[in-house]
Amino acid sequence: MIKGKKILVVHCSDSDYKTHDDISVIRKWHVEERNFVDVGYHFFIKKDGTIQKGRKLKVNGAHCRGINSKSWGVCLSGKSNSFTQAQMKALEQLTIQLSDRIRLVDQHSAFDAKKPFCAGLNDNQVKYLNNLVNVA
Ligand SMILES: [Zn+2]
Repeated sequence: MIKGKKILVVHCSDSDYKTHDDISVIRKWHVEERNFVDVGYHFFIKKDGTIQKGRKLKVNGAHCRGINSKSWGVCLSGKSNSFTQAQMKALEQLTIQLSDRIRLVDQHSAFDAKKPFCAGLNDNQVKYLNNLVNVA
């Protein structure tokens, strides 16, 4: 059954500045400007495809209003759907890695009408990722 399985929510950092291409920068924003205890995401994917770890998986994230306790958040560095092939490949690998523990992959915009450009993936990209999820 799918009970207990999480939703993987995809975000974008909404910045293409090279200096923002690291989870330490996002962590600083979240902690210093938004008073979070830690970066709100569980993963960050750099432009070169490196997957950086944020919050521990057992800790609720702070990334998607209403479903933080049921989801994990992954943030792709860059503006809405301006991602590199390496990033998409890394997101695919991450989905495969988590495939037994998630029931769905979708993006922020699917859960929050106020975030229509986050992360900006198209339907085929979302569908492709979901085909990697073990829904048994
Ligand atoms: Zn988002």
